[in-house]
Amino acid sequence: MPELPEVQALAADLRERAVGRVIDRADAAEVSVLKTYDPPLSALAGLAVTGAQRHGKFLDLTAGSPLAPDASPHLIVHLARAGWLRWRDSLPPQPPRPGKGPLAFRLRFTDGAGFDLTEAGTRKRLAVYLVTDPALVPGIASLGPDPLDPAFTPAVLAGILAGRRTQIKGLLRDQGVIAGIGNAYSDEVLHAARMSPFRLAATLGPDEVTELHKVIVSTLSEAVSRSEGLAAGNLKAEKKSGLRVHGRAGQPCPVCGDTVREVSFADSALQYCPTCQTGGKPLADRRMSRLLK
Ligand SMILES: [Zn+2]
Repeated sequence: MPELPEVQALAADLRERAVGRVIDRADAAEVSVLKTYDPPLSALAGLAVTGAQRHGKFLDLTAGSPLAPDASPHLIVHLARAGWLRWRDSLPPQPPRPGKGPLAFRLRFTDGAGFDLTEAGTRKRLAVYLVTDPALVPGIASLGPDPLDPAFTPAVLAGILAGRRTQIKGLLRDQGVIAGIGNAYSDEVLHAARMSPFRLAATLGPDEVTELHKVIVSTLSEAVSRSEGLAAGNLKAEKKSGLRVHGRAGQPCPVCGDTVREVSFADSALQYCPTCQTGGKPLADRRMSRLLK
């Protein structure tokens, strides 16, 4: 799933390619992908793209007149777990045929270029919204602070963690708590902080909070700078190659050489290094212990 660094790079890539281009048409190839109906997608026709930005893991493309920014529609995209954006230099003028294949949404400019939003699988979780104000998207309205905003200080993080008897891994992934961190970067942050994913948030001491804040900002900033200037098509490979423990169960930890381990849940898994994060003790994995019974 694209997280903060990838979505930030996608926004930068779209600023380069799309700003100034005039929209010819926008079509949902799968009806369920479009979550709003007013304004309709046809309202985008004839408008120029004026900007692209990120809110948490949401991508926000603004279209309209720079002289009337308040009246500008925002095309908001959430790529969900398996969605992606592909820039296309040449798209056919007719709308895509609905239903088949990975195509979920297409936006075409009057010069024939554009982009496709794709998602593998029959059920599309990718979401597109056309709104006059990004805050009208519930997932954006409820976002917690952005970790790359200078206003996200160690004191802000301390306030977030205080009194929460929840596991730090789940808390970091909660978009209403901190915006933009998902399953992959929460694994990476906790590895860099040498902290167990099951640690209860409220039990962190002041030094641990300061350290956690430092690695949240550095892990995400480093991933952003690795992704900067990369075209959309190269971002996935870059994300994968930059990760130290996430998705690397069974491989050696790049810090200490211990074997990266995994804990599986119903619909996801986390990876961690026992030596770096849990005092050398592997965490209980319900799926594994069930298999061993
Ligand atoms: Zn290690």
